[in-house]
Amino acid sequence: RKCGVVITGASSGLGLATAKALSETGQCHVIMACRNFLKAEMAAKSAGIPKENYTVMHLDLASLESVRQFVDTFRRSGMPLDVLVCNAAVYLPTAKEPSYSAEGFELSVGTNHLGHFLLARLLLDDLKKSDYPSKRLIIVGSITGNTNTLAGNVPPKANLGDLRGLVGGLNDLNSSSMIDGGEFDGAKAYKDSKVCNMLTMQEFHRRYHEETGITFASLYPGCIAETGLFRNHIPLFRTLFPPFQKYITKGYVSEEEAGKRLAQVVSDPSLTKSGVYWSWNKNSSSFENQLSKEASNADKASKLWETSEKLVGLA
Ligand code: NDP
Repeated sequence: RKCGVVITGASSGLGLATAKALSETGQCHVIMACRNFLKAEMAAKSAGIPKENYTVMHLDLASLESVRQFVDTFRRSGMPLDVLVCNAAVYLPTAKEPSYSAEGFELSVGTNHLGHFLLARLLLDDLKKSDYPSKRLIIVGSITGNTNTLAGNVPPKANLGDLRGLVGGLNDLNSSSMIDGGEFDGAKAYKDSKVCNMLTMQEFHRRYHEETGITFASLYPGCIAETGLFRNHIPLFRTLFPPFQKYITKGYVSEEEAGKRLAQVVSDPSLTKSGVYWSWNKNSSSFENQLSKEASNADKASKLWETSEKLVGLA
């Protein structure tokens, strides 16, 4: 049978390119878990993904109720879950004030981390049930949260501190809209959320890999400078960022190439190692990359896990 792959945020950018690459193998059925149903349908059509290779299902990660509804709808569909890809993200670098998810969490961390945390925790049971030989749970990371890299050192740097803002509920009413308890900064909130993604992957690995045999992985697909992620940035940035990445940092990858990379992490038989953060070198060969000190701190990962459980209503 075909491999059942759920991809969040498959209506554009990396998620769509990955859905297309997987569809082209002829061995996968992709469930596109998207907040905008019509946009996702149109994106799949214009990418030329054959109808029999995908299903669009509604998921808004900025609402925990919607996450639970998605899990319900998915289960009722009777489709198997063999691989889950947590890919969707928002990036709000120019926001002066925080905006909030349905449950009142700062939107970047609420969407990118807390929504995915609940989704992955609930769908773990479905992954366990799958009889597919290589089951995987992938959470897309980024170089920007890794302060051991040049890109990760561009201010404002990611820093979760002692998680006091998250413990307080991640809103300015009760504590702070930032995980470390500091002043709101949209670019930092995104980077912090990516550190959470990478810590969560490792904590899943520590808690569940041996027991379940599921491969847990994260990755940095390269700088895909033309995706919708930068839609909220100032126009000058959007004009200059792609050539800067192409010719100066040479970190640029096309959406198509990045999609092929994530598709490898989904289905390549040689990428089954769990607990790994994959990157690609200039020749497009994958290698196991090092995470920064904070993004590989096991105590922080465990505290993040327990705090997130409380916020999403699992504890
Ligand atoms: P895009 O903006 O093109 O794609 C993001 C996707 O997430 C869109 O499909 C968007 O939906 C979806 N999304 C946003 N909010 C929600 C929500 N509340 N519920 C459900 N879906 C939502 O960006 P990219 O493709 O660049 O980003 C994909 C991943 O790649 C992210 O995890 C990002 O951090 C990571 N990444 C990107 C890099 C880059 O250079 N672009 C570099 C490193 C990592 P909609 O279409 O409706 O807006």
